[in-house]
Amino acid sequence: MINNLKAIEKEFEAKIKGVTDEKTLEQMKKEFLGKDSVIAQAGMHMKSASVEEKKEIGKLSNILKAKFMRHFDELTHKFKTFELNKRLEGEKIDLSIPGVKLDFYNKHPLNLVIDEIYTIFSELGFDLVDGTELETDEYCFQKLNLPIGHPARDMQDTFYINEKLVLRTHCTNMTARALTEAAKNLTKNSYVSSVSYGNVYRRDDDDATHSHQFMQIDGFALGDKISFANLRWVLDYMCKRLFGEATKIRMRPSYFPFTEPSVEVDITCVTCKGAGCNICKQTGFVEILGAGMISPKVLTLNNIDPEQKTGLAFGIGVERIAMLKYGIKNIRDFYENDVRFLKQFKFFGE
Ligand SMILES: [Zn+2]
Repeated sequence: MINNLKAIEKEFEAKIKGVTDEKTLEQMKKEFLGKDSVIAQAGMHMKSASVEEKKEIGKLSNILKAKFMRHFDELTHKFKTFELNKRLEGEKIDLSIPGVKLDFYNKHPLNLVIDEIYTIFSELGFDLVDGTELETDEYCFQKLNLPIGHPARDMQDTFYINEKLVLRTHCTNMTARALTEAAKNLTKNSYVSSVSYGNVYRRDDDDATHSHQFMQIDGFALGDKISFANLRWVLDYMCKRLFGEATKIRMRPSYFPFTEPSVEVDITCVTCKGAGCNICKQTGFVEILGAGMISPKVLTLNNIDPEQKTGLAFGIGVERIAMLKYGIKNIRDFYENDVRFLKQFKFFGE
């Protein structure tokens, strides 16, 4: 048995050098320490051996067992470290790889128009106010001379949340709110003016020039001697700033429930500069916005005495201006977030 043990030690030393993976290592463990191994046989043999023999076999067995175990542990550790390093290598973050380039473009054309108009009115001393898209029937319609059942409501049919709340059909709701607020502190010579912008909604069939949701800028000025001439000057000034010094405006009588008189405002056709083309149907002018003097009825509805104060008001379709200014044919291009469309405005603005 002693000889067997010595022989197995030599065999072990020869074989262990060739172990290069965990699988072979497991086989070796079985072969040299398993239940059929020489070490195990030595243990069985001891039962019938003499005391001297037991001592010798026991000692040698223990030495070999410890030696085998040490080698196995070393190799297990070596293989595990190797695996871990291999995995870490695969998961390594390479900070030298260039990052993903994010495209940066200029503002959306609608925002460019809003910015430009806001700048103009801000310079003229108008306040810039925010408004909510969800509005009460009272401020969206009733305080603007559109009582329940008024036929003009049909022109502005919208989305009702319930009987009292609607998605606003125009930013003029903010004019009603501003007038009601201003009425609390109005004195002789006091003056108030503001512009507001945002989304508005109409029950409309979407096509190339109509959308059920679009943007408006609405503004008004209220004072002691605001006249139609002031309205004309303000709009003429704005249109020249937006479309160039040579731009002329033309006013045509129209009807809005909240202004009296009311006008549709046209500007010199941006395509033919007034010579006449298909866009302007040979008239040399294109329609751009609606305006008028605030109706005395609306002033009364908002607690303002029309004998004391007068006001001008206007409503501008942001998409309309952007389409004319940038030559955009389809209103839906504004809402589709197609970068090929948006990229074209890289060079506009500041
Ligand atoms: Zn034209």
